[in-house]
Amino acid sequence: MKENPVLIRQLFDSKSFTYTYLVADTHAGVALLIDPVSEKLPNYIELLAELGLQLRYAVDTHCHADHITALGQLRDITRCETLAGEPSEMTCVDRFFRDSDILQLGSIALRAIYTPGHTDDSYSLFLEGQQSMVFTGDTLLIRGTGRTDFQNGSSKALYDSLFNKLLKLPDNTIVFPGHDYQGLKQSTILEERKSNPRLQVKSWQELNDLLGQLKLASPKLMDIAIPANKQCGKTPLPGSGLNFLTEKPI
Ligand code: FE
Repeated sequence: MKENPVLIRQLFDSKSFTYTYLVADTHAGVALLIDPVSEKLPNYIELLAELGLQLRYAVDTHCHADHITALGQLRDITRCETLAGEPSEMTCVDRFFRDSDILQLGSIALRAIYTPGHTDDSYSLFLEGQQSMVFTGDTLLIRGTGRTDFQNGSSKALYDSLFNKLLKLPDNTIVFPGHDYQGLKQSTILEERKSNPRLQVKSWQELNDLLGQLKLASPKLMDIAIPANKQCGKTPLPGSGLNFLTEKPI
């Protein structure tokens, strides 16, 4: 039997609690990175070299407020294509994808699912197969969801994205979130439907009330990260006080 060529690596940035995903077709020797973090750039380059993979794409699931993206640096170093979803304000990217677009990586087809709510440019990426998996960015987290109170967030849109898109995926689909603060690395659609407190609501208004009770502080890096990320991670000048978060940022 032919060996499965799909390789998934879940990488972690302990400062922003971000999960970055390396997805590769090992037969074709090509890879993509989802939500790479600027500070982790050397690790990505080293890992790609060790695994003998060529980086084809670097993708952000949305314009991040809590860390600076490595998209621009990865493009400079590896000549990969950078992507984000429409209507992202990341005008620096080479290409925008839309709902249902397929990102082809060797034999791997990742389908973009438009899942706005946390931001208006949030997408999930679905890999259908014997073991389906979905990279949910900050739309669906393990036992949580992204917040909806900035970057054109909308609880109504989030409700629709969760209930009418992500929860319609097969129950055994593995959920790979964009962050986790407890070190829970993965879940499934079934597990989240049963146990995620934010998925026990009956309406978008109920979800809105739940999110409203959180009273979250703004991400400290937001005023730096969002403008930087619109330029694919062009970082601020030295001495600007850039300091990555060590607290729950989303
Ligand atoms: Fe986010």
